[in-house]
Amino acid sequence: MQRISVLFPTPTGCYDYRAEADMPAGAFVRVPFGRRQAVGVVWDAPPDNTIPPEKIKPAAEILSVPPLGAQTIAFVNWVAGYTLSPVGMVLKMALIPDLEKTSKKPLTFGAPDPAHQTIRFSDKQAEAVRQLAGIDGFGVALLDGVTGSGKTEVYFEAIAQRLVDGGQVLVLLPEIALTTAWLDRFETRFGVKPAVWHSALTPKQRRDTWLAVAQGRTSVVVGARSALFLPFRDLKLIVVDEEHDTSFKQEEGVLYHARDMAIVRAKIAGCPIVLASATPSLETYCNAAAGKYRHITLPDRFADARMPDILIADMRCRDKGAVRFISPLLCQKLTEHLARGEQALLFLNRRGYAPLVLCRACGHRFQCPHCSAWLVEHKSGGRLQCHHCGHAIPKPAECPACHEADSLVSCGPGVERIHEEIAALFPAARAEIVTSEHIDNPAQFADLLGRMQTGLIDILIGTQMLAKGYHFANLTLVGVIDADMGLGGGDLRAGERTFQLLHQVMGRAGRAAKQGTAVLQSFNPDNMIIGALKNNDRTAFLAAETQARQMLEMPPFGRLAAIIVSGKNQAPAWEAARKIAGAAPKDADIAVLGPVAAPMALLRNKYRFRILVKTGRDCKLQKMLAGWLSRVRCPAGVDVRLDIDPYSFY
Ligand code: ADP
Ligand code: ZN
Repeated sequence: MQRISVLFPTPTGCYDYRAEADMPAGAFVRVPFGRRQAVGVVWDAPPDNTIPPEKIKPAAEILSVPPLGAQTIAFVNWVAGYTLSPVGMVLKMALIPDLEKTSKKPLTFGAPDPAHQTIRFSDKQAEAVRQLAGIDGFGVALLDGVTGSGKTEVYFEAIAQRLVDGGQVLVLLPEIALTTAWLDRFETRFGVKPAVWHSALTPKQRRDTWLAVAQGRTSVVVGARSALFLPFRDLKLIVVDEEHDTSFKQEEGVLYHARDMAIVRAKIAGCPIVLASATPSLETYCNAAAGKYRHITLPDRFADARMPDILIADMRCRDKGAVRFISPLLCQKLTEHLARGEQALLFLNRRGYAPLVLCRACGHRFQCPHCSAWLVEHKSGGRLQCHHCGHAIPKPAECPACHEADSLVSCGPGVERIHEEIAALFPAARAEIVTSEHIDNPAQFADLLGRMQTGLIDILIGTQMLAKGYHFANLTLVGVIDADMGLGGGDLRAGERTFQLLHQVMGRAGRAAKQGTAVLQSFNPDNMIIGALKNNDRTAFLAAETQARQMLEMPPFGRLAAIIVSGKNQAPAWEAARKIAGAAPKDADIAVLGPVAAPMALLRNKYRFRILVKTGRDCKLQKMLAGWLSRVRCPAGVDVRLDIDPYSFY
């Protein structure tokens, strides 16, 4: 009898079966499972020979679906080991629902033509192209250049060169940047649209694309982070655009960082990987500085486009009486730019009208009953809403605590409030709000970009949705309403994220021939990050940030893992968190911080506690954590999650 291991897309792991025919690793099989049939994948794990032969059921049927290749299997195993997740849950990300259905009219994918368009590169760009072409086998390159320097053109050329002999290419973009604008650009360059992969695909699109990738019928896939788990057979190149973007970190289910895992996937495939960014993450930057990655720079904007002039509006000297979120300086610049018929973008990373509503009479604040969060006022719907769980109530006419009428005040601005202020200041201007509530599919986004391009909009007011990946020739003014917003909170990457985001937002101004202006409104104009932004001095920022992290032995100079313990009942969750912290290995080179109540101490009705584990760079983190947690038994109803290399600390 030949025993095989079959893995199911569940947390439980592999089960032994008897192979009835040749059933190689990667094959999809239908097998009896309890009283029903289940589909699993023959796995390359050794069978569990302790189970007596008579208990082993036959794996009767092999499905006519292309098997997962050895590289995909190796990748799934690696991710599971790194994130300390059950292999089955990682496998789940590599499968598609309704695998066996066949589409009546399957999607077809055209073959990109590397020679469809020829580009004349500048000397610097040509040198970057040459360096990328020079990578033989696995290798990581940081393609580092300001917005508008031609990074996209350069990596398009690398794609063209790698595709000449066939094979496949994966381009990862932050979900938000997966716009028609990018796809149109790809089509201009290669004559066809690439295959796309993101959360808004229909099940049929998913299935057709998955099958086309598995059968090698599509050569270029552009996708959000989950595209990493597609069954590529013959990867020739991976590109991670906007590699610094924190949305590459998946925060639900299997907690992985798509940029880091992309490097692993490239290593398994033995192909190069390009990390592109105007503001590289500190991790990537340090790896490049240490010579582990090739550092390819494009220092200038293409053609005549220049970086914008940057002005700081010091919000401390505001006239106290004025309820203005738009400073006199920004107001003046808006007047000038609008008078010239140019467009402006106002950036505020906060949806709704006001982040907090309170009663002037008794001080009552509206809080979410399910989360440690204030309810955000949304004026458009007349609601107060929790941005974490969706809980919403109509805004009451009187205070529910003291019953005083007309006593509720809205504190602080959200984009709706900025819109209101703009309407009062510039009644003739056509202003539009852009957030994930207003735009939730690519068609709506394309429509918005179209109206912007044809000049139907004067002022865009929006969240970070507007920071990415496209450019408007006539957009010459960017106003950052609250440049300090990301700096509080004290999380490890707060400064880095603020620098990256604001740098990117400001880069939206003046990308074509016209000179741009950016106005940063700040209460801390002396802050190092605001200063580095003002002087467009990335080097100073990176040097200071590197030094601070080095001193604190924080990543990339040390390693972090978070243990998040949560439960519907507070006491058992707290008890479990204390037990876990108490069981920490004593000998190892680790620091255990906590347990403490998480900043979001209550989230969707669950109480949360956090333990932060800090180790040296060479610590075998996974092995240490696995051993540690195996010594603690947690009661039912208490959930323990591990976050290796955490990016969020809420
Ligand atoms: P980045 O990706 O660094 O932001 P892009 O590749 O988007 O830069 O380039 C910015 C703009 O300049 C785009 O419109 C692009 O088509 C154009 N561009 C860049 N390099 C060239 C080139 N060599 N020839 C023609 N247009 C170019
Ligand atoms: Zn809530």
